[in-house]
Amino acid sequence: MVQIAMIDFEKERKKLVNRLIEEGILRTHSVIRAMLTVPREEFVLEHYRKWAYIDTPLPILCNQTISAPHMCAIMCEALELKINERVLEIGTGSGYHAALCAEIVSPSDMESKGYVVTVEYFSELAKFAKDNLKRTGYDDRVYVINADGSAELPFHRKFDKILVTAAAPKVPNSLLRLLKPGGRMVIPVGTSYYQTLILVKKTSKGGIVIEDLGGCLFVPLRGKQGFEP
Ligand code: SAH
Repeated sequence: MVQIAMIDFEKERKKLVNRLIEEGILRTHSVIRAMLTVPREEFVLEHYRKWAYIDTPLPILCNQTISAPHMCAIMCEALELKINERVLEIGTGSGYHAALCAEIVSPSDMESKGYVVTVEYFSELAKFAKDNLKRTGYDDRVYVINADGSAELPFHRKFDKILVTAAAPKVPNSLLRLLKPGGRMVIPVGTSYYQTLILVKKTSKGGIVIEDLGGCLFVPLRGKQGFEP
């Protein structure tokens, strides 16, 4: 039995980040800094804390999962997040990925206008994430909303970057409309058991360019434009 008190989480975090750098997945200073800063052990269930720095998804509440660290890294790199940006996430889960994005667009040691709005379908998970974000000090830069993120969302301002962390049958038009010209969105698109991670770039004139970032496996998006109600 591993004694949690004996685990040096910071050391484990550094080891994982170094491996992701060696593998060429982590490349950008601000993403590396965020992965070294946000404590993943605070976003997993007590029982799984000892595995927080194994590069794998882990179960959270409502039969959902916190994504594997390499997937969070791939998505943050592809989004090319910058300080002061406004980010929308669909699929809050534990709140970990939202905290990573927040650490990039609004670093803990700097004044910045950046923030993250994250939408979660299950109220129990929205509360779980809010508690995790508060305990780790990200509740001043991450706003959790309990709603169906596949439906029309009532935002007036568009977002610089959008990430969807659940598998969608197609890119929801409602999200394309919420992306600024020049903005980027990452979203897993496919069936409920296998997807392709898609990078959507909106040009300054509003055109859409799609890039295929490879195969992936996410839990299904629910709701209006998802797989199940
Ligand atoms: N980003 C999360 C992991 C997400 S798992 C993390 O860092 O922990 C996918 C999440 O998407 C689950 O929490 C699931 O409940 C949520 N989800 C599924 N369909 C949704 C929808 N239509 N709107 C908002 N959230 C949704």
